[in-house]
Amino acid sequence: MADTVSLPHTDRFFELRFESIGGLGAHVGGQIVAKAAVLRMGLNGAHFSSYGSEKKGSPIKSFIRLGAADKPIRTSAPVESPDVVTVFHRALLGNPATVAGLRADGTLIFTGAPGELPDSLAELPRTAKIIRIDAQRIAAEENSRPNAVLIGTLAEAVPFFAADILLEALNEQFGRKRPEAAANNKVAFERGNTEFEILTDIGRAEGDMPVIRPDPLWGYRTAPAGGIILNAGSTAWNDLSISRTGWLPVLDMDKCIHCGSCDMVCPDLCLVWTAEGNSATPAATKLSGIDYRYCKGCMRCIETCPTGAMTRETETPGLAARLNKPLFPQLVD
Ligand code: SF4
Ligand code: SF4
Repeated sequence: MADTVSLPHTDRFFELRFESIGGLGAHVGGQIVAKAAVLRMGLNGAHFSSYGSEKKGSPIKSFIRLGAADKPIRTSAPVESPDVVTVFHRALLGNPATVAGLRADGTLIFTGAPGELPDSLAELPRTAKIIRIDAQRIAAEENSRPNAVLIGTLAEAVPFFAADILLEALNEQFGRKRPEAAANNKVAFERGNTEFEILTDIGRAEGDMPVIRPDPLWGYRTAPAGGIILNAGSTAWNDLSISRTGWLPVLDMDKCIHCGSCDMVCPDLCLVWTAEGNSATPAATKLSGIDYRYCKGCMRCIETCPTGAMTRETETPGLAARLNKPLFPQLVD
């Protein structure tokens, strides 16, 4: 274990918040950082995440709380006044809750292309450090994920984090389970550690950002009856605030061998199968399409298809409607 490091404040914890959407690795990223702090830096640490339906595309917040070795952490409250906010997807900067509570001397790391400067950054404290890194592009180029890139940037942005310790922790996380990913993650981490840009003279506010505690949408008297989905998200609706990965599967019938692998992994049973044949020719059950009204774009079918018959396409208006194969045609007008 490395020597115990000193945190910048002795009267409070050092707190980080990852703001992300499901599928970009924020939860695992938070685990890696907290484990490194506890097992390799001699600190006390706690990590947990807050998310809804656990589907790719849903908002997720991941919290890390660090304390000195003699300062036990007895709270599991969400991090409301973070020293560091790391934003995994640029679209999240449109929501004021993403940067809520950032301390005046805190750090914001956000995913953005070179030259990109969202207007909302002007609301940040004048004294906060603002760092931009194109984590999604780097992750795509290195066949890695944004978490590896952003942990690399974090290692440089937080003075008491050492790059070699965080990289070791990243390697340990994936080395055993997915050794093939370790080399790509290392390159992604190193690019995150060096290709970031510190932006100056951006924030205009004085002092800490206000804490935002959103009111619950529903209460005891106003909650809808169980089982009713008021805000449905599927690839047919094109509402990326709910189905935000922005991809849908497209079936190429010429390549499909009707093996059923996609059906075994689809969590929403939205693949449509039809029995063909008659008494003279034995019936065969064949995949005939996708009912996009139930498809949430998780991409599991694409990952499992052995022939490349399922491909990932951008979710554009009208595409799902054009390709849709209804599961229950008798219920369609
Ligand atoms: S993307 Fe594929 S596996 Fe996921 S819900 Fe849609 S059809 Fe099912
Ligand atoms: S996994 Fe691929 S080949 Fe098999 S049924 Fe599904 S689309 Fe067809």
